[in-house]
Amino acid sequence: MFKSGFVALIGRPNVGKSTLINNLMGQKLVIVSDKPQTTRNRIHCILTTEEAQVVFLDTPGIHRPRHRLGQRMVKTALNTFKGVDLVLFLVEGPISPGPGDRYIAQALRGLKTPVILVMNKMDLPPEGSPGGRGFKGAYEGLYPFAGVHEVSALQGTNLPGLTEAILAALSQGPKYYPDDMVTDQPERFVAAELIREKVFQLTRDEIPHSTAVVIEEMREREGSPLLDIRAVIHVERESQKGIVIGKQGRVLKEVGSLARQDLEVLLGSPVYLE
Ligand code: GDP
Ligand code: MG
Repeated sequence: MFKSGFVALIGRPNVGKSTLINNLMGQKLVIVSDKPQTTRNRIHCILTTEEAQVVFLDTPGIHRPRHRLGQRMVKTALNTFKGVDLVLFLVEGPISPGPGDRYIAQALRGLKTPVILVMNKMDLPPEGSPGGRGFKGAYEGLYPFAGVHEVSALQGTNLPGLTEAILAALSQGPKYYPDDMVTDQPERFVAAELIREKVFQLTRDEIPHSTAVVIEEMREREGSPLLDIRAVIHVERESQKGIVIGKQGRVLKEVGSLARQDLEVLLGSPVYLE
């Protein structure tokens, strides 16, 4: 029996949703950053095995809305959970539940879709936990979860058990996407996200998240295995150009070199990145 289904991730910004998807997929597809809210678009990652196909939806972190737009974003995010087969609710296991976690738990109330609690970052020691027992009980009290998994998305700890639970929660279904497809976003989008990620990594807090990367061109070079990719990094202010370029072009060069390495793995061919 072939199983398939859609699995959505929900959790406060920075709990490790993108890291978890990356690790479950074994491929770098979703931008990871130590700053919250970098995942702007919902990315469908598609994991296909011989027995099953899981389509993951990574959503921008849900936070307590403080303004109208925030409220609308949260509503949209919550609506998508009605249409999925399973929800993974990620929390930071080593710290006690916060208002953001409680807000999400409350918002999920009444949902018929099963919700699995994923306590992430368990590689870190519990922070100020009474008797060092951790916060499992406190999290379990937030919602009638279908299951609880303590993992480290970063180190890959206990992920096989989580994968098993995900597969167990899915029912018989079709193969929605071809075997070799890992994302339904165009390759250009993934390439742009990868480059954006490197810009943030290398410029620290100096460059705002409004920075955009546009892939102007992506094509195979004639008579060569090379893939030519031309990307443009857009910044908001003239002064930010210097930061992205760096002294003697050092930062930009490093962005290009790191992005190229990831792109070659992702696209499976040598890349010339301009
Ligand atoms: P998202 O905002 O929920 O998508 O979170 P990210 O996946 O972007 O991760 C936010 C930060 O937490 C990054 O710096 C990750 O490296 C870090 N992180 C994610 N998972 C773990 C984990 O299991 N252990 C530790 N120590 N750090 C993690
Ligand atoms: Mg993310």
